[in-house]
Amino acid sequence: MLIKSDRLKGIIQRAYDCKPPTKDEVKFMLEFDETSMEAKLIRATADDIIRNNSDNSAIILGQIGVDIMKCPGGCKFCTFGDDHTEFEPMRISDDELRIKVHNFVKGGDLYGLYLMTMHEYELPVLLNAVKTAREITPDTTQIWVNIGDTDTDTFKELKKNGVTGVYHVCRLNEGIDTKLKPEDRIHTMDNALEAGLELYTCLEPIGPEHTPEMLADHMFIGIERGIYQHAAMRRVAVPGTPLAKRGQISELRLAQIVAIVGLASFMVPTMAYLGVHEPNTLGYTSGANIITAESGYNPRDSNGDTSKGRGMDMDACRKMMLECGFSYLRRGDESKIPLTLDYIMEKASEI
Ligand code: SF4
Repeated sequence: MLIKSDRLKGIIQRAYDCKPPTKDEVKFMLEFDETSMEAKLIRATADDIIRNNSDNSAIILGQIGVDIMKCPGGCKFCTFGDDHTEFEPMRISDDELRIKVHNFVKGGDLYGLYLMTMHEYELPVLLNAVKTAREITPDTTQIWVNIGDTDTDTFKELKKNGVTGVYHVCRLNEGIDTKLKPEDRIHTMDNALEAGLELYTCLEPIGPEHTPEMLADHMFIGIERGIYQHAAMRRVAVPGTPLAKRGQISELRLAQIVAIVGLASFMVPTMAYLGVHEPNTLGYTSGANIITAESGYNPRDSNGDTSKGRGMDMDACRKMMLECGFSYLRRGDESKIPLTLDYIMEKASEI
């Protein structure tokens, strides 16, 4: 047996018995080097369990940035942080939004659409974007929001207008690498749940300086709350952002981390899907099964329309998931579409 650690063997055996690792065991698994045999085993285990649990299905989400400004969140890794951004304030028009939404949903297999704003946003503008998107999206596409700290009543208003869920994160080094308070971020997650919305969170933005202890502690903020989707995202060293000088972790290390997030969270009864940002094949062969297409403004991109920069379109997302061996795409009503080469060629030829 090449695996020297009895402790790791025990963690893996218990995962197959539907028992998740403890926080201490998560730290232990994060300590292995990404090129080690142990890290490969962790990735293979998460991939095997999650594919079996989900009937080897993947989902595609879409994200559209609707509003940008010098963001008072001031995150030192984000292209919109108020102390360093070079973007001018801009708001997507209703017509531009319709075109972007149409491009995402025309094939019918977008599971969920995120509408993203800065930390501060105007509720009427967001509600208008929700309404505009809702007019075009089929019933099989859910509407989600990725917005700043928000109270319960506002989340209830969003829910009343057709929003299903919220992406919200207490980031690594929140309050140090950002101007926001960790307690406010966590409070917002609780507000979303109290309003009856689903919660999608993420371990982010991971950089080379983050220790296994820090990663484990942040991973469990979402797990302890009953998330619907969890994920891991590495910090992209975007030129011009203050933290670019700290560098990036490799996609292989990110794949190890996402596998551990998967093993730790997939026993949460509400947890359905696992994401990796940005999309990459190592992550999708290590347990992740959510891919995100992006258009408009993106905090990880200095291009004002990320679909022309770092963002992937729907055809590229379908292709990557086929290449990673998924058998089905799930739509937002959980119906399954067989994912085949014929299918992606048919979708690519649709106008
Ligand atoms: S990550 Fe979000 S909150 Fe932080 S500066 Fe960027 S847009 Fe603002």
